[in-house]
Amino acid sequence: MFENLGDKLQSIFDSLKGKGKLSEKDVELAMKEIRMALLEADVNYKVVKDFVKDIKERATGQEVMESLTPGQMVIKIVNEELTSLMGEKEVKLNISSKSPTVILMCGLQGAGKTTHCGKLAFHLLKKKKKPLLVACDIYRPAAIKQLQVVSKAVGCDFFEMGDKVSAVDIAKNGIEYARKNGNDYVIIDTAGRLHIDESLMDELVNIKKEVNPDDILLVVDAMTGQDAVNVAEKFNENLEITGVVLTKLDGDTRGGAALSIRKVTNKPIKFIGTGEKMENLEPFYPDRMASRILG
Ligand code: GDP
Repeated sequence: MFENLGDKLQSIFDSLKGKGKLSEKDVELAMKEIRMALLEADVNYKVVKDFVKDIKERATGQEVMESLTPGQMVIKIVNEELTSLMGEKEVKLNISSKSPTVILMCGLQGAGKTTHCGKLAFHLLKKKKKPLLVACDIYRPAAIKQLQVVSKAVGCDFFEMGDKVSAVDIAKNGIEYARKNGNDYVIIDTAGRLHIDESLMDELVNIKKEVNPDDILLVVDAMTGQDAVNVAEKFNENLEITGVVLTKLDGDTRGGAALSIRKVTNKPIKFIGTGEKMENLEPFYPDRMASRILG
């Protein structure tokens, strides 16, 4: 994960550690290199600017400059700031005080939405919950089938009303069904599009109004870098998402989405997808991710 960025930061740190005491010029040069490494990793330029400014302020402080191991201290500072960039702490799923808890899943086509409905159900099953998957993508009959296959694979309940009923009605009926069937979680799979369009957003806004979800999770593909960040910004503006599921982190992604989304949208990454299998879902821990990046 983010090997390139990790390697670059490592080599910057190695040269800092080799220096003993640091001059302001050393720090200046290191900050320039960190800035380049982050931009090459496709991190949002405004995020990079603020990030480097914060590190520089701390790294040129007395404590670091007068330390006997200033290189180590700069590494510690970068680690802390990377963690803070991604949100400090794990943010868990919201829980409704009244069962069932409703999770609305949204995102563009191909991001991994349907797969992650299944992964989330699997995650909840492991916690002894009883999730229900609700098929609200009425525009692609294959999508309903795909969700059914996923629910079979993980062994959870499934609800559909075909493709002739509105997505809003299916969502409402699904929740009603969950109440009667004893499901404590409802995961609603919605339609995706290739690009953001008004009718997609209108439908999602309508579902949100009618069912008042406890979580609105946006599924975005980490491989798409800054596009993923722009998508998150747009969905958040229209829908006020409560969190992000960042998928395909097992691929050759550079890290830009993971490092930018929180700062740009002010919404937490709640989970990451690390493969195609149902068990490839992890809660997102900013500190662990920072340590993973720094190796
Ligand atoms: P949707 O159109 O957003 O519902 O996307 P799908 O759930 O159908 O996923 C699109 C493709 O991405 C499928 O081939 C999935 O197997 C794959 N996929 C989903 N999540 C991940 C992931 O975390 N890692 C990898 N490598 N592939 C994934």
